[in-house]
Amino acid sequence: MIVVLHPQCTPDQQEAVLQRIREAGLVPHLSQGVLRTVIGVIGDDRTKEQLRTMLEAMDGVERVVKVLQPYKLVSREFQPHTTVVPVGPVRIGGPEVVLIAGPCSVESRDQILQAAQAVKQAGAVMLRGGAFKPRTSPYSFQGLEEEGLRLLAEARQATGLPVVTEVMDARQLELVLRYADMVQIGARNMQNYTLLREVGRARCPVLLKRGPAATLEETLLAAEYLLAEGNPHVALCERGLRSFDNHTRFLLDISAVPVLQRLSHLPVLVDPSQAAGKRQWVPPLARAAVAAGADGLLVEVHPDPERALSDGPQQLRPAEFAELVPQLRRVAQAVGRDLAATAAGAPV
Ligand code: PEP
Ligand code: MN
Repeated sequence: MIVVLHPQCTPDQQEAVLQRIREAGLVPHLSQGVLRTVIGVIGDDRTKEQLRTMLEAMDGVERVVKVLQPYKLVSREFQPHTTVVPVGPVRIGGPEVVLIAGPCSVESRDQILQAAQAVKQAGAVMLRGGAFKPRTSPYSFQGLEEEGLRLLAEARQATGLPVVTEVMDARQLELVLRYADMVQIGARNMQNYTLLREVGRARCPVLLKRGPAATLEETLLAAEYLLAEGNPHVALCERGLRSFDNHTRFLLDISAVPVLQRLSHLPVLVDPSQAAGKRQWVPPLARAAVAAGADGLLVEVHPDPERALSDGPQQLRPAEFAELVPQLRRVAQAVGRDLAATAAGAPV
C-alpha cells in the first residue's frame, strides 16, 4: 500500500509515520517527488490491513492507497515521476534519449578501443561490451572475463564513456563492479532471483533485460526484486521475444515501451540488435523504438563484425552506426525529445 503525505506534512510527522510502519514489522520506502512525498509499505498483507486504519488517522497523512498490482515499488502509482538513473555523467530516463553502443563481446584491446572511439564519435554516450557472455553453446566463446573488464575500463579511460557490462552470476558481481559503471542482467538471467537480490543490495545502476518469454508483469516483478532490496537505479530493456517466425532472431515488442512506461516509473530502453539478429533490420527497429518513446537504445557496433566472436551478423559497422545516429536524432526530435550529448570535455 502507499501512504500519500499531505503537502504540508512536517518532518516530525513524516518520521512518526515511518516509525509506526517499522513498529508493525513492515518496511517503508520513501519517495520524495516534486509535488508529493509518498511512502510505499511492503510486507504481509494482513499486517498492512491492520496498520492502514491507524495510518489514515495520523497527522500529515492525506490518504492510504492499496496497490492492486503484484508489483509495488516499480509501479507508477507508487512514484508518478519517471526515475532518472545516473551513470557517471549520463542520465537515463531524463528528457533525452541515451545511446549506448559497442560490441557484443570485448575481444581484444584494439577491438574495444576502436569500437569505443567510433561509437563516441558517432554520438553514443555509453559503451557496452560483454566480458562474461551467456552463450547457448558451451563450446562458443564465453568472454574474456576479468581481462575483458580491464579493457572496458581502459576504453572508458580513453573516451570518458561510462561502461555497461553483463553480470551472469552473483559470485562475479564484486569483480564486475570494480570495473563497470552499470551492470546488465541479461535476458536469460532476468528471473535469477539470487542474482537480482545481490544486485539489489549492491545499489549500482542496473540494466535489466526482459526475458524472451517473460510477460511484462514478470519483468516488472523481476525489477521489484531490485527495488525491494533498496536499489532504485534500474532501467528496463526490451530485446525481443521468442516467436514462431524466423526472419528475425526475436520478435521486438515495441508495445512494451509505452505499456511499461505507463505501468512503471522506470526508464525503458530497447536493444534492437538482439531482436534483429541481422544488421539490416537494426536501423528500422532502432528508429521505431525511439518513435515509440524509448528512453534509450543499446546497439551492437563492432569495428569488424565479420570476425566477431559473438553475434557477428547483427553488429553494425561503425559507418552504419554513424549513419543511423542523425536519423535517430530526427526521430527523437519529431517526438519532442533529443539525443543525449556526449559527456563534455572528454577526449575522443
Ligand atoms: C547481449 O547484450 O549481448 C546479450 C546477450 O543480450 P540478451 O541478454 O538480451 O540476449
Ligand atoms: Mn549480443
